[in-house]
This record gives sequence, structure tokens and C-alpha cells, in this order.
Amino acid sequence: MRFRYHQPTPNFYSIDNPIKPKTTITDDFLDEFRDIALASRFVGLSYSKLSDEFKSEWDIDWDNIIILKYFMSSDILKMDPSKEKCKLMDAEFQEFGQKTFALADILRQEGFRADLINPLDDRVSLRAIALQSNEAVITRSNMCMFREGLNLGFFMIKTSIENLPFKTENDMGWVRDYCSTCGVCIDRCPENAFDDDEKFIRKSCTAHREGCSVCIDFCPFYKRGYEKVKQRYGRMKK
Ligand code: SF4
Ligand code: SF4
Repeated sequence: MRFRYHQPTPNFYSIDNPIKPKTTITDDFLDEFRDIALASRFVGLSYSKLSDEFKSEWDIDWDNIIILKYFMSSDILKMDPSKEKCKLMDAEFQEFGQKTFALADILRQEGFRADLINPLDDRVSLRAIALQSNEAVITRSNMCMFREGLNLGFFMIKTSIENLPFKTENDMGWVRDYCSTCGVCIDRCPENAFDDDEKFIRKSCTAHREGCSVCIDFCPFYKRGYEKVKQRYGRMKK
């Protein structure tokens, strides 16, 4: 299991998928859907279109993904690793999982197929899907970061909607270069979860076992936010 402290989310659907799902969403309904998601305390939506190559690599037959992002609470992230912290993180995860089922129901009611992708299913990597949105990047500390922030959790809905506003280019590649000049996460990691070449060692990281989030807390992207770090990077490059 990738998220060891998370429990499976129960099935909260109250509407079945349509027999003949629609494939085209109007701008108005997509705006409405986004507004409902934001009112449910999600902080942003992204969209991934999975290529044939990607589908074949992961052995899946679906391709239109809505990514719903939420902020993991700063109060919880600042706690020391503990069972209590893991429980609180899971409670937050369950809360947003439940909201995702409700959002899938809204799409189903409107005539679209919509299914939550099980975040505990290791057969497909949600991070790999997130990267296909062209709105995410993996930081040196192995976090999947979107522009909204470093401390994001996310749920995903696979859907029959073909005309989501998919982005085709990722302009976040500079983050890797910035990370190569920083290294605060390596210095601060209490578990030495980086090798001699400063590469992340997954099995040494206790984030998903004990709730460590030290490297988030010290990361400039968390402390200052994506746009401020980007401005700083721009000044560094002058
Ligand atoms: S602490 Fe520095 S090197 Fe580590 S992820 Fe954040 S910006 Fe990148
Ligand atoms: S052990 Fe903690 S500080 Fe080290 S990489 Fe994992 S989450 Fe970050």
C-alpha cells in the first residue's frame, strides 16, 4: 500500500453511472462544477488526458481525469510524527474522499460517467497521472507539487468527458533546477532519506508510515509559495 496510514474510502455514490454516458461538457457546466468543488474546500482542479502509451504502460483503458486538490492542514503537518498525526491526516483524507464521491455523483446526474480512482490501488500511480496534467512536478523531496502549493493531497475522477481543458505543455520544469541549488530537505531530513548523490531513498522516508513532514515544513515552496520562489529563481538567473 502506498499510503499506509490511510484507510480505504467507503463507497459513497448515491447515483449510478449513466448507461449511455455523454462525452462533451459545456463551459458553463464545467465552471459550475469547479465552483461547487471550490465551495467544498478543494483549492484547485487540473485535468489529465492519458496517452495511449501511458494506458498501455499501466494497463488501463480510461483516459480523461479530473484532479481535485486540497490543502493538507498546516496544523497537522507541523505536528511531530505520531499515530495521532497519522489519524488526523487520514481523517482529512476521508473527508475529501467523501466530497469526491459527491462530486462524481454530480457528474453522473448530468449524464457523464464518473468514477473515483481508488487512491490506495497500487496498480496505477496517481502521481504519474498527476504529471500528465502538465501542471505538476516532482520536487527533490519526492513531493508531487502543483502551483497551488507543496502541501497538497488529491483525489481523481476518471470520466467519459472528452473535452476537458487539458494542458499540453508543462512550464514547471524550472523547479528541478531550483531544487538543485537548494537542498534544504536533504539537510533537514531526520531519516537521511537521500543517498550520496542526493537522490531520494523511498524506503528510508517515514512520511507514509509515521507521518513525517519535516521536509515540507522547511521547503521554500511551502514557506513562501510557488510564485514567490519562481520570482526568486528568475532573479537568480539574471
Ligand atoms: S527543500 Fe529545496 S531542494 Fe528540497 S524540495 Fe524544497 S526547494 Fe527543492
Ligand atoms: S523522512 Fe521526513 S524529512 Fe525525510 S524525506 Fe521523508 S518526509 Fe521528508
